[in-house]
Amino acid sequence: MQQRRLQLVVVPPPVRAGAGQIQLRWGATIYGHVELSLCPVDRRGLLLGLHVEPRHRRRGVGRVLARAAAARGGGFSWSANPPDEADAAALWARVGAPRAPASPCSHQEAAGLRIEPHWPK
Ligand SMILES: [Zn+2]
Repeated sequence: MQQRRLQLVVVPPPVRAGAGQIQLRWGATIYGHVELSLCPVDRRGLLLGLHVEPRHRRRGVGRVLARAAAARGGGFSWSANPPDEADAAALWARVGAPRAPASPCSHQEAAGLRIEPHWPK
């Protein structure tokens, strides 16, 4: 039975250091998700993407997701893909996403992640 309350749901990666997700959900409704990779060996975190459904924007969903990701990789060295949506740059800044362009470790490179090391100027 779906619980009718706001909850963070972790979707683990299929392989170590692969791409996993944290979703913010209300029952079956997904308000948004953050895609991330954590390497426990090198203690590296990669923020791969952050998406908030348009109708649920401007309610702090992105911030909750970014904080959940940071908490899961507490003490990790974080870097990030550039924001992938036109209006995401402001969100990126607001949620405190890492400003370092993605610098994956060897495990993350081997996991077949979508990595964009070059940020637009
Ligand atoms: Zn690694």
